[in-house]
Amino acid sequence: MTEQIYTCPTCGGLLEVAHDMEALKTKSGPAWTKLFDERYRRNQWPYGSGVWGKREWVMPSVQDDEIVSMYEGGTNLFWAERYGKSLGLDDLWVKLCGNSHSGSFKDLGMTVLVSVVKKAIKEGQKIKAIACASTGDTSAALAAYGASAGLPVVVLLPRGKISTAQLVQPIAHGSMVLGLDTDFDGCMEIVKQLAEQGIVYLANSMNPLRLEGQKTVGIEIVQQFGWQVPDWIILPSGNLGNASALYAGFKMMRELGVIDRFPRLVVAQAENANPMYRAYKAGAAEVEPIKALPTQASAIQIGNPVSAPRAMKALRAMNGIVEQASEQELSDAAARADASGLYTCPHTAVALAVLEKLRAADTIRSGEKVVCISTANGLKFTDFKVKYHEGSIPGVESHHKNPAVMLPADVNQVIDAINRRF
Ligand SMILES: *Cc1c(COP(=O)(O)O)cnc(C)c1O
Repeated sequence: MTEQIYTCPTCGGLLEVAHDMEALKTKSGPAWTKLFDERYRRNQWPYGSGVWGKREWVMPSVQDDEIVSMYEGGTNLFWAERYGKSLGLDDLWVKLCGNSHSGSFKDLGMTVLVSVVKKAIKEGQKIKAIACASTGDTSAALAAYGASAGLPVVVLLPRGKISTAQLVQPIAHGSMVLGLDTDFDGCMEIVKQLAEQGIVYLANSMNPLRLEGQKTVGIEIVQQFGWQVPDWIILPSGNLGNASALYAGFKMMRELGVIDRFPRLVVAQAENANPMYRAYKAGAAEVEPIKALPTQASAIQIGNPVSAPRAMKALRAMNGIVEQASEQELSDAAARADASGLYTCPHTAVALAVLEKLRAADTIRSGEKVVCISTANGLKFTDFKVKYHEGSIPGVESHHKNPAVMLPADVNQVIDAINRRF
């Protein structure tokens, strides 16, 4: 587990974490759910974490004092009542994973990876630094967990392609921040070489340890519904590690007697970065890399997704579909959702825009229980929202813009303005 190896020496494919399922099966499904419910969001270290509360299913060999946790998980499953009703859905839920320490669902996997690195160092391994290529959220999570454990971190970011908030997170945590003149895929190529040469420990989702933490999001959603399975889960996707992690969580729940069916998976991609959508439409078995174009959904601007083979498997197993959203569609979906009380990052907006399209086509039916996974906190994407409400996103018409009204400090003019509006 602590060995620094990321691909199979024989076939070159990605590795997976294997659990001792026979040992886990000695406990019944109801006994597991009872244990997980007793621990959920309580304060006994480390069980209050949504990840470590399920440690036997995640990373059983890590000891309490090796765990680097910030009580990730346990995020609100928001009943999107008004927004859902506007689409003819009474049972729409948004899993607010961005309400987490570093503001995205990447915390779920990073707690596992950094804990294992801490264990490896304790066991005597020499690790100069942990490193990742990132579109902004992986680097923020790695920087925070690394700083918390006192471990050196290097992040490789595509210069000018992430939000200011995301850029400043690793800077503030004391990581070494490298802004490279390339895109995410270019950063990924370089960090892979650093890992191959043994210079850094690789924290990208090629490393299967991260997926073990990420898979808890599906388990937690089912738990929050009293261990009931929703009909659909919509996930904004880029590198496709999370699509495969979601499936891993559901597969484990089914094998261990917690659930008896899978939800249908919707992989939601930005039209400007849609290699999996293209493969799905073409009926191809494999995803062909493309050059991703700029998108407001910058965290999923990925043309060569590392976990594509694993995600194709997840899609088949979960009777899944892939749908895409244009810049116009995602921008308006974010505004509609925000006006109903959500505060949506552009990736979540891709999932919501895809939901709107699947509802319009009646692929998703009105009585069905639907969960959209909100992957990051909208507060990281202030520029996107400011520009939308200014009407200044290139190529996008802001159909729901709500600019501030600027007035002199004059009570009569204020009263007039309010009366004009309502
Ligand atoms: C990482 C990330 C995704 C996509 O996850 P993948 O596993 O790369 O498909 C979606 N949204 C946000 C905000 C992310 O940070």
